[in-house]
Amino acid sequence: MSPRLRIAVLGSTGSIGRQTLMIAERFPERLEVVALSAHSNADLLAQQATAFGVSRVALSDTAAATRLQSLLAGTDIEVGTGAEAVTALASLEDVDVVLNALVGAAGLRSSIGALSANKRLALANKESLVVGGELVMQLAVNAEMLPVDSEHSAIYQCLVGERAADVSRIWLTASGGPFRGRTLDELAGVTVKQALAHPRWTMGPKITIDSSTLMNKGLEAIEAHHLFNVSYEQIKIVVHPQSCVHSMVEFCDGSVKAHLGATDMRIPIQYAFSHPGRWGAPLPPVDFTQIGRLDFEEPDYASFPCLELALEAGRTGGTMPAAMNAANETAVAAFLGHKAGFLDIPRVVEHVMGRHTVERLESVEQVEAIDSWARQTADQLL
Ligand code: NDP
Ligand code: MG
Repeated sequence: MSPRLRIAVLGSTGSIGRQTLMIAERFPERLEVVALSAHSNADLLAQQATAFGVSRVALSDTAAATRLQSLLAGTDIEVGTGAEAVTALASLEDVDVVLNALVGAAGLRSSIGALSANKRLALANKESLVVGGELVMQLAVNAEMLPVDSEHSAIYQCLVGERAADVSRIWLTASGGPFRGRTLDELAGVTVKQALAHPRWTMGPKITIDSSTLMNKGLEAIEAHHLFNVSYEQIKIVVHPQSCVHSMVEFCDGSVKAHLGATDMRIPIQYAFSHPGRWGAPLPPVDFTQIGRLDFEEPDYASFPCLELALEAGRTGGTMPAAMNAANETAVAAFLGHKAGFLDIPRVVEHVMGRHTVERLESVEQVEAIDSWARQTADQLL
């Protein structure tokens, strides 16, 4: 029997992180959890660390890390403090796979750290590719990277055994979010609670808001552009409210392969570990007779301006996606904190993009400098 895969789960207290640990719990003979990290949730991290018998944990929030130290006093679990300690877990010698489920551009350094140390990177943190796509992909040439985002896992699986040159288009599916069918005017007064009520997926708050503005699909187009080396013209976004087709790949001979399945992130998370094999399903199979029909429609670019803004940032390239992403993260946090309205999100993103002078993407430090400039500029606009 092959030895267990030793995994580090970054962002283990979040939606993806907790589902990853459900898989680890189901397959103790295949997966060994070695390290865990989060931002400030010391209580849950301490519970997880004890339950899985990990050797190392880290919290980026220093006050919370001090609390975690006292919660784990008397154990031999090593506690790291600060963002650098979280990143350090990505390159530990006794880790084979790093699952990056941090949220936002804060995940970039961990993606780079994992790939530089030749780990398999199971990537949920799409913002790594949005802000630093070229930097991450350069490193992925010599290391293995498996997407966890459901659409990208679907595309990846459709591409197994195919030649890149035979791909003509990617059909990137979108649920349409909770506000599908509304006009821009109708969106002005929507509340945080309404925006958080996603019809198909239960996810962390940031990505749930991104799904309601369709920014998430724009970020995913940038993610697909980098992961699969396709141009923006080759990426066709299609709204598919049943979220059963996770995405499709169209080939030069007119054949289209689609990946279908339940709307449950445990499937793509598990595949990022089991690849090139497959393990037993974490939930009952889909009954297509119950789904009945599959609908596809054009996205409403007028009601959801974030989608076009993200695509424009992607097409512009260089440092524009980093500026766009930081503006979005800032505006989404303000909306979630009831300090901004729903339509302030596209307004702020558009203004920050308008003020940004694009540079060639060269380094993580440059991305971080642009990220903080864009956050400050966004703050002034809020
Ligand atoms: P959550 O908000 O649920 O979880 C985020 C995790 O990251 C938590 O463990 C949080 O710790 C930690 N974290 C947050 N900020 C920082 C930071 N600055 N430094 C270190 N750790 C931090 O997010 P999700 O699980 O929903 O999403 C994670 C990533 O996966 C995102 O990039 C998202 O786009 C992507 N994704 C998520 C999907 C989903 O279904 N949820 C689907 C596809 C992609 P703490 O709890 O202490 O705050
Ligand atoms: Mg997705």
